[in-house]
Amino acid sequence: MQTSPASHDATPRSLELIRQLLRFDTTSRRSNLALIDWVRDYLRSLGISSRLTHDDDKAKANLFATIGNSRLPGIVLSGHTDVVPVDGQAWSVDPWAGVVKDERLFGRGAADMKSFLGIVLAAVPDMLGKPLATPIHLAFSYDEEVGCIGVGRMIRDMQDSGVAPGICIVGEPTSMKVVTGHKGKLALRAHVCGREAHSALAPYAVNALEYAAEIIVELRRMQRDAAQNGPFNREYDPPYTTLHVGVLHAGSALNIVPRECTFDFEFRTVPQDDAHRLLERLQTYCTDALLPQMQRIAPESRIGFETKSDNPGLHTEERAPIVDRIELLAKAGRGGKVGFASEAGQFQRAGFDAVICGPGSIADAHKPDEFITFEQIRKGEAFIARVIDEAARERS
Ligand SMILES: [Zn+2]
Repeated sequence: MQTSPASHDATPRSLELIRQLLRFDTTSRRSNLALIDWVRDYLRSLGISSRLTHDDDKAKANLFATIGNSRLPGIVLSGHTDVVPVDGQAWSVDPWAGVVKDERLFGRGAADMKSFLGIVLAAVPDMLGKPLATPIHLAFSYDEEVGCIGVGRMIRDMQDSGVAPGICIVGEPTSMKVVTGHKGKLALRAHVCGREAHSALAPYAVNALEYAAEIIVELRRMQRDAAQNGPFNREYDPPYTTLHVGVLHAGSALNIVPRECTFDFEFRTVPQDDAHRLLERLQTYCTDALLPQMQRIAPESRIGFETKSDNPGLHTEERAPIVDRIELLAKAGRGGKVGFASEAGQFQRAGFDAVICGPGSIADAHKPDEFITFEQIRKGEAFIARVIDEAARERS
């Protein structure tokens, strides 16, 4: 290998494997099967079989594989295969080419989070090289970036096939710090249905858009209540549950009273709060305050709420044994609670002790010219090497 002052450290051994993963365009709206097939073939070449769980259209899949005895509580190394779009972003390099420049690897997913997947895959021969007292599971999901909706099927399949819960490390980019929590997120679509009419006769119709506006005002009241009265958790920023409306569709012309209105909104909850109780409160408001007015004019009027995604928060106590344990292996300290969501809460809900810890910085993710430094890749490699050493030594 050529050495120069700029690259005195060795090229990360997992670099080529990560670059291979970056070449698959796995934007969430597309199929991830080309990548999944590649990973499955790679593992098969090492003698490891994979379990796939597909989405309804069979266009996407999760991949689950175990090295060691899956009946023993093990260590899940978890990551998502999908990435956010590059649409409208000004990239100076090809986002799908795995460009290397100045000890950095560029590409969509370089930080979030194909480097973690590549590091784990490159370490599989080492996992096979020593008998593991604690099994290591690879859990690679689809559709994380659109609300963590893919991983649930894999977790159910793990439960059905008798995988014992152990610990779960979600390798989202935390610069190798151990992150113990993030808020839960319940995303919903409201469907408001009234009755249309010529706008000159508006009082004889039911304006879905205007009733939607009343629901949105109620959401703002609920937000003020949460900000003033809590529940509070100072580990989170902001330290209370947040509510937000992001998209609204209604109306086609000013002289038509709109019959339909839909809008998308979310609750992001601190651990002391319950998004489903908040939704019940909103439904009670609709049933008691709005629907009687609407149905007096148009009995067919309806207000419905459709769940788009329901991702529980991750809430691991700072004093939980897993936090010390992973901090010792990752050697980069603690990262507290974070603002971004992850799949860790779903593993926790399924009985796993879970933390988030992985290479790269979330500050470099989702942006044009997303990158990860070689230094972070090397730290991720050292972390996984220590995880394997520990798994070879003792039971989880
Ligand atoms: Zn991610």
